[in-house]
Amino acid sequence: MSAARSYKTRAIVLRARNLGEADKIFTLFSDARGKLDAVAKGVRRAKSHVAGRLEFASEAFLTMHRGRNLDIIVSADIVRSRFASVVDPGAFATAHLLVELVDAFCEPDLPMPEVYALLGGALGALASSTEPATIVPRFELRLLDLLGFAPPADACVRCGAPLEGGSAWADLEAGGLVCERCRPPANDLCGLDSADVENFRALGARRGGSAKAALAATPAVARAVDAFVSYHLGKRPKSRRLLDELSLRPAVRA
Ligand SMILES: [Zn+2]
Repeated sequence: MSAARSYKTRAIVLRARNLGEADKIFTLFSDARGKLDAVAKGVRRAKSHVAGRLEFASEAFLTMHRGRNLDIIVSADIVRSRFASVVDPGAFATAHLLVELVDAFCEPDLPMPEVYALLGGALGALASSTEPATIVPRFELRLLDLLGFAPPADACVRCGAPLEGGSAWADLEAGGLVCERCRPPANDLCGLDSADVENFRALGARRGGSAKAALAATPAVARAVDAFVSYHLGKRPKSRRLLDELSLRPAVRA
């Protein structure tokens, strides 16, 4: 009985809020159960074992106890703390965007191990990236794919004409790229030339475990991918604004 009521899982911290005097509710993205809320009792007291191990975007091994309403975090062991990598403003803003998207798109109690791996991998890549925001378009396309929203890039989604070698436009309602003939009348925002179309296709491609050198999105592709994400989300992600503000500053290159 007691064995069945407790379980172990890996989880990434999406956000937290205070509960009562000393507790916190954590929204976690776990590999075993997907997104879930869980309570850590006494976590705001100095003696707590769990305090400090459940920071924003950190990954931990958790021992959980099934509660009547919320599951309870019994113990936490750090797998990877993101604190070192998220003190850089660009990495911090990017981490917020990745976490916000997973939080917004993923339903509670629906295991999505591939999304878990994607988020964990992208948060890890932030640490070694000199331009963290470049991780975003690839992450967004892969996330849309895993959610079943991937915009196809090989052929026009309206007429099926191949797009290779030609221009294309992002048609949000149709859910993908369209050719010159099918181009919506008032859509001049997300036009892609043939090099952009190739970039869009390469960014969205499924790859094996060995991640090659990160491919950067062209500006037009980054705009188109953002537009697809906002369309499926029904709004512009909040963290996007901070990232946009940071990108307006002159880039400091090592
Ligand atoms: Zn067409």
